Amino acid sequence: MKSNFQCLNCGKCCNSYYAQINITIGDIIRISDFMKKPISYILKNFIGINAFGDPENPEKFSYEFGINMPCALRKDEKCSVYQARPLNCRLFPYWVLVHASKSGSKDFIDDSYKCMSGINLNEKELKKYDNYVKVIGEALMEEGEFTDKILDDIQIMRSVDLQHNQDYKKIAEKYKDVQKPEDFKKLEEEKIRLAKEIFSELDDHQISLIEEKAKNPDLVEKIKNNTEKIQDAEKILD
Ligand code: SF4
Ligand code: SF4
Repeated sequence: MKSNFQCLNCGKCCNSYYAQINITIGDIIRISDFMKKPISYILKNFIGINAFGDPENPEKFSYEFGINMPCALRKDEKCSVYQARPLNCRLFPYWVLVHASKSGSKDFIDDSYKCMSGINLNEKELKKYDNYVKVIGEALMEEGEFTDKILDDIQIMRSVDLQHNQDYKKIAEKYKDVQKPEDFKKLEEEKIRLAKEIFSELDDHQISLIEEKAKNPDLVEKIKNNTEKIQDAEKILD
């Protein structure tokens, strides 16, 4: 039984189709600064629109900013922007381990992630991870709000209802009697593919609007403050 987490650098969390990684405007600015490339370059090359199903409304999907998977920022078997990696990348798998430890339930630990399997955090590690998750989680919430505001301001499509979509009806009919988990997985995959056919990429006009918004001095200042907090939080894990 292990008492702490160690990344085995398998790349699974950077490559999995299912582990979609949402990204904030702060993440994009930090990666842009780190790579010394314009925001438009980051948006064009690494970021897409991910579709997320609504568990209570099977025909509804929300669209969120996310890293295209497999993540093209993983190069030579490592994260090429590690110091500027997105907040969601920082949180994984710490939030899962904290949640598992606090609830006493391992149900949501996916054993196919070998780095999470068999960990039993002691009190000291739990406190450390909990503090880290709190700081990163707060930054994520705050930056998520900035990101949503920008997307709303420039009228980016945020959701879709496939109820009347003919292709969706065919998929729903094809899988109407499924029972096996693998079939549910295939169904979800087909639905997400369909939602992404409708919207999965920003066009050049949208990219230039986001780039313009990201230059707002208030936003720049807030992201700068958050970046300092994030850097301090990283020391918690040392
Ligand atoms: S899945 Fe776990 S071991 Fe593999 S790269 Fe991600 S954090 Fe590291
Ligand atoms: S940004 Fe880095 S840590 Fe995040 S998915 Fe890409 S390679 Fe992995």
